[in-house]
Amino acid sequence: MTKLAIMGAMEEEITPILAHFSDINKVDYANNTYYECKLGTLDVVVAHSKIGKVFSTLTASTMIQKFGCDTLLFSGVAGGVNPSLKIGDLIVANKLSQHDLDITAFGHPAGFVPGGDVYVNTDGTLKNIALEVASANNIKIIEGIIATGDQFVADEKRKEFIASTFKADALEMEGASVAVVCDALNVPCLILRAISDTADMDAGFSFDEFLEDSAQKSASFLMKIIDKIQ
Ligand code: SAH
Repeated sequence: MTKLAIMGAMEEEITPILAHFSDINKVDYANNTYYECKLGTLDVVVAHSKIGKVFSTLTASTMIQKFGCDTLLFSGVAGGVNPSLKIGDLIVANKLSQHDLDITAFGHPAGFVPGGDVYVNTDGTLKNIALEVASANNIKIIEGIIATGDQFVADEKRKEFIASTFKADALEMEGASVAVVCDALNVPCLILRAISDTADMDAGFSFDEFLEDSAQKSASFLMKIIDKIQ
């Protein structure tokens, strides 16, 4: 690893990460701000993409192709689908899918387009480091499937569809697009999320209440992972 990308979707997700850095150089590019900083001798670029698959794709590609990052870590919040996931719990993705990618009218499985796959894998080494760091610090985490789509899910029916179709443990709006970019460009990536809500009819309220706390939990765990991989 020579240059590390750290990404979130929302400002609230990267603020607790930026707090660990001093001497930050701001670069404005493609309607976004990228924060160049250093952790010891390691070059780091931090950014929040804005919400959704399109903006997160743009940011992940930019961090890799323009800034030259060769490892990408994503930190943020998600809606819990697996009933064992409570607010504030951590999940690290072993694979992700796009739950709103739908050409099933042509007989393809949900989440599939020709040339792609229903699932995209993340880097096994980074994921295992996350699991080791959690166990060493006595922190609860699960490894599982994350489903991504361009919608805030606050509906039992939609949640059930995503759970049964993709075997998803959590859902959010950026992880799969970031993982697709990293997979295509051969950059190892880690998608880490802390639960902010459970994607049911109370999700909006729960999200507003727990966003900051859960974003902070994910960010501080991510910093522990970075300590380990540095
Ligand atoms: N309140 C924000 C919108 C948040 S959208 C605003 O008004 O600007 C939800 C964000 O958190 C996305 O970045 C997504 O990745 C994640 N997320 C958390 N819970 C989610 C859920 N139930 N459904 C979809 N995304 C969720």
